[in-house]
Amino acid sequence: MTIDYPRTYFGWSSTSPADYATPRSGLVIHYNGDATNLTSHAGCVSYWKGVRNSHVNGNGWADLGYSFGISVDGHIFEGRGLTRYQAAQGTTAGNRDWYSVSLMIGGSERPTAAQIEGVRRLRAWLMAEHGVSGTVRGHRDFISTSCPGSPLYALVTDGTFTKPPGAITTEVSDMLGLKKGDSGERVKLLQLKLKNAGFSDVVGTIDADYGPATAEAVRQARASVGSAAGAGWGDRMTPDACEQVDRAFARRQAEIMIGRADLSTGGSSGDLPATETVAVSGQLTVKR
Ligand SMILES: [Zn+2]
Repeated sequence: MTIDYPRTYFGWSSTSPADYATPRSGLVIHYNGDATNLTSHAGCVSYWKGVRNSHVNGNGWADLGYSFGISVDGHIFEGRGLTRYQAAQGTTAGNRDWYSVSLMIGGSERPTAAQIEGVRRLRAWLMAEHGVSGTVRGHRDFISTSCPGSPLYALVTDGTFTKPPGAITTEVSDMLGLKKGDSGERVKLLQLKLKNAGFSDVVGTIDADYGPATAEAVRQARASVGSAAGAGWGDRMTPDACEQVDRAFARRQAEIMIGRADLSTGGSSGDLPATETVAVSGQLTVKR
């Protein structure tokens, strides 16, 4: 395992100019603050570059604040990367001893199943190859802040992030009961899951509307794991439909982990949202 998208992919120096450190305590979860409305790889790449621009040229830091980011597609983007102080935690010890990861969502947005899997892959890699503890915390465990938002912090405290890669996520229950004609955030998550299960062309635009295209993608996802999945079988997220869509997704993620078969880009980039405001407490003894 390695990082899916290294610094050089974004046009940056291969190693961060930030100060050297050897974080061992674990991983801290962050979010964006405002909703990002990101749905594509290209949008997340633009977003990540915007975060660095804001932290370097806006805040005057040595580099972007986070060690790593997780795109809505669930890919691991390098920030400061390994063996660097990072600047997101708000305390000097927090910045020295812990790695940080920012999930590219905010507001009331929920993480995609692929993002949860991305955090698990990142954590497993840090533990297995870089001597880091498996502890996962939220930014608010260090200083007074809303970060990483209620949806993500709930996953910090219920142990979702400390499960191994490939474990079934809690997103199953969020899909349950959705049906053709529904719209909203839960439908968007279902569409992203279908996209990341390999049915991007079928599901089409991620528009948060459970229309014919979404229904067909559900039907095909079910068929892909052995269900009879006849006409109408994609119209409602029954318990069986949830389990089968989840299985199709897990299998696709496993294929990507093994062969990195699909690192497709495409889609439009969204507007760059405001980045998280990082609160600073105490005297900083290292450059940020
Ligand atoms: Zn934060």
